Amino acid sequence: MGGIADRLADVQQRIAEAARRVGRDPQEARLVAVSKTHPVELVREAIAAGVGALGENYVQELVNKREAIGDAVEWHFIGHLQTNKARQLVPFCALVHGVDSLRLAEELDGRAARLGRCQPVLIEVNLSGEGTKFGVGEADVIGLAQAISRLPNVELRGLMTMPPFPAEPEDSRPYFIAMRVLREKLREAGIAPKHCAELSMGMTADYEIAVEEGATLVRVGTAIFGSRDAPNA
Ligand SMILES: *Cc1c(COP(=O)(O)O)cnc(C)c1O
Repeated sequence: MGGIADRLADVQQRIAEAARRVGRDPQEARLVAVSKTHPVELVREAIAAGVGALGENYVQELVNKREAIGDAVEWHFIGHLQTNKARQLVPFCALVHGVDSLRLAEELDGRAARLGRCQPVLIEVNLSGEGTKFGVGEADVIGLAQAISRLPNVELRGLMTMPPFPAEPEDSRPYFIAMRVLREKLREAGIAPKHCAELSMGMTADYEIAVEEGATLVRVGTAIFGSRDAPNA
């Protein structure tokens, strides 16, 4: 395939088509372009082609790229955040996707309070016990959501998950359905709709399925930037 602009257009079109297939408004499924390991020049190319939100896994890489590029895009942190690094993200991070403990949420809350900010976050859910080793088990999500929604300087926006890598895209569907059901349980448990609006799920291998099942944020890297082992492949 061609350059980043072509690949981006293809991904955006597939997202929109997946949304329409199930009667969703394509605007409700936003793309977070995952630029981890790729150089700043490639990231600038993606921004020029229309990327509005970037996702990074490593705090230092995110901080460095943001220093080089500035705030023309939203910066999302999608990796596992260590409590002692929260301070570096809070001044500018649009959304921290992987909050999986009250301790981390409290650290973000304290840091955000000092800056007079409110830090948007998602709770990372570990549905399988197999995919990512991070995230909270389904049984603990409601309790954590209730606790986080009481913090004044953290704003819970929803849930994130990363299922085991699928052999076929369809293999991820049950996990994505489980996320939708889990969000319904949060609502039934009294969590305000604005605190569980977002579902961050779907990557290169399965983002179309994720959109069909209700993803509001898909995190796509390889399909836009190429392979991380050989960035120009
Ligand atoms: C790397 C990564 C992605 C993007 O993966 P691709 O397969 O390259 O699309 C999405 N989410 C998380 C949490 C990641 O670490």
